[in-house]
Amino acid sequence: MLGLMQSQNLLISGLLKHAARNHAAGQIVSRTHEGTTHRYTWAESERRARRLVRALQRLGVRESDRLGTLAMNGYRHLEVYYAAPGMGAICHTINPRLHPDDIDYIVNHAGDRVLFADPGFASLVSTIADAIKGCVRDVVILTDAANMPDVTLAPGMTLHCYETLMDTADEDYAWPDFDENTASALCYTSGTTGRPKGVLYSHRSTVLHAYAGALPDLFCNKATDRILPVVPMFHVNAWGIPYGCALTGSALVMPGRHMDGASLANMMNDERVNMTAGVPTIWLGLLQHLRASGDRLTTVKRIVTGGSAAPPMLIEAFRDEYGIRVEHAWGMTEMSPLGTYNSPKVAQAGLEGAAAVKHMLKQGRIGPGIDMKIVDGEGKELPWDGVAFGDLKVRGPWIASAYFGDEPGAALDQNGWFATGDVSTIDPEGFMEITDRSKDVIKSGGEWISSIALENIAVSHPDVAEAAVIAARHPKWDERPLLLVTAKPGHTIDPASVLKVYEGQIAKWWLPDEVLVVEELPHTATGKLQKTTLRIKYKDHYMGAAG
Ligand code: AMP
Repeated sequence: MLGLMQSQNLLISGLLKHAARNHAAGQIVSRTHEGTTHRYTWAESERRARRLVRALQRLGVRESDRLGTLAMNGYRHLEVYYAAPGMGAICHTINPRLHPDDIDYIVNHAGDRVLFADPGFASLVSTIADAIKGCVRDVVILTDAANMPDVTLAPGMTLHCYETLMDTADEDYAWPDFDENTASALCYTSGTTGRPKGVLYSHRSTVLHAYAGALPDLFCNKATDRILPVVPMFHVNAWGIPYGCALTGSALVMPGRHMDGASLANMMNDERVNMTAGVPTIWLGLLQHLRASGDRLTTVKRIVTGGSAAPPMLIEAFRDEYGIRVEHAWGMTEMSPLGTYNSPKVAQAGLEGAAAVKHMLKQGRIGPGIDMKIVDGEGKELPWDGVAFGDLKVRGPWIASAYFGDEPGAALDQNGWFATGDVSTIDPEGFMEITDRSKDVIKSGGEWISSIALENIAVSHPDVAEAAVIAARHPKWDERPLLLVTAKPGHTIDPASVLKVYEGQIAKWWLPDEVLVVEELPHTATGKLQKTTLRIKYKDHYMGAAG
């Protein structure tokens, strides 16, 4: 027998409609590319999102079309976030920090029909224009006519100014109803080896994630909150915050490209921000600014940190020097991203001093609605005793089942679990702590670097026989790549010349900080490089480096 409750599709437009109707005056504040501050409300944002749909319809955009964005956090990007899925199309956020070759691969793989870009990425768009002309027909610069930059496109592509496009449209649009399992957004991740892979979110997964994320033991969004996501909107939908704020009517404060410590501190104080979220490297930069300038954060109560492990000094310094609580979260692009959040249960609520910090370093408990387990090499589940560590697997309604272009379920094991590539313990209270990573990648300042790509380039050097790149801990960037090479018989290696091989082939920040020439590299019985041995030996190689 079926229940007799109303059946209503969980749609992203429903979040925005709710905010416009119930939190019409709720604020959205953006620092623009030009450095000015733009303010409007959830009601105005919803009206402009409708107008954008009308403009997109005039460009011929249809359901299921992918609309790429190369943009920082700001109100125009937010409008694309809601207009694209609201009309049944897909908002495809692209990480502008990647090498242009990776960006054009991603745009072509996604088959983006339109590309939105901040004016700051005009030259990037010109660089990739020829390579993406097979799919992108319209490029829209997220600015007004007065600030349009020079952009060179390929034949067959049309350049538009966002505000001019908006001026030509009307708001006469009613958000349509459709199946909640329809794809809503696409985000590529390089979190696994090889080429970036697309995670295709649905309306249902996004709305469920927004509901769970707003819970008191997770982000705890309230209508009175003023939330500043430093985490970019091209990183897993800014951890779902743009959706979560609409759900609860919280004010959304967006810093654009101004993410240095001083700019963030000013914006947080000026806009009375009380909660903010981002990766540890951002918080270390903010801390450095506060200490150097003597500035205080007058309204911030909570900093959510995730994307990489939180260093203990971060938690201690903000707590002891500024009275701000740093809360630790863990997740992945494939998980929308929220997985675990470190909020105390009864047994942890009274912890103080060093014991409290030790506990806060754990990545936290799984959110309601999803599940996690740790398994050994044979796939057998390990106990939650805080000691046994194994491969961390997850499942639930906001976790990917396959990557874009693959068959549903292709990314899961036979029991429907997704392997995260993280290795962890889980204690008897359900707090998960990451101890290692089985995926062979480096996470620097919250961004991935592919060790395989770096190794392949290193072995193209005429003197290099074999190369291994490992993630070494770093005081500022969390991890940086360290390259170890062996020489071909009879050759000697000049480390500087190895670094020269990378020129033009990778994004500059991917360049290994150091090249170590070694006699030999360790191998497993099957002849594969034994990275674990290298990681143990060299993991602290950069820890003396100046921040
Ligand atoms: P991404 O898909 O780029 O969000 O990266 C997800 C991966 O980042 C996870 O699988 C972890 O390896 C790492 N990660 C995310 N949050 C944390 C955290 N709080 N502590 C340690 N590693 C983390």
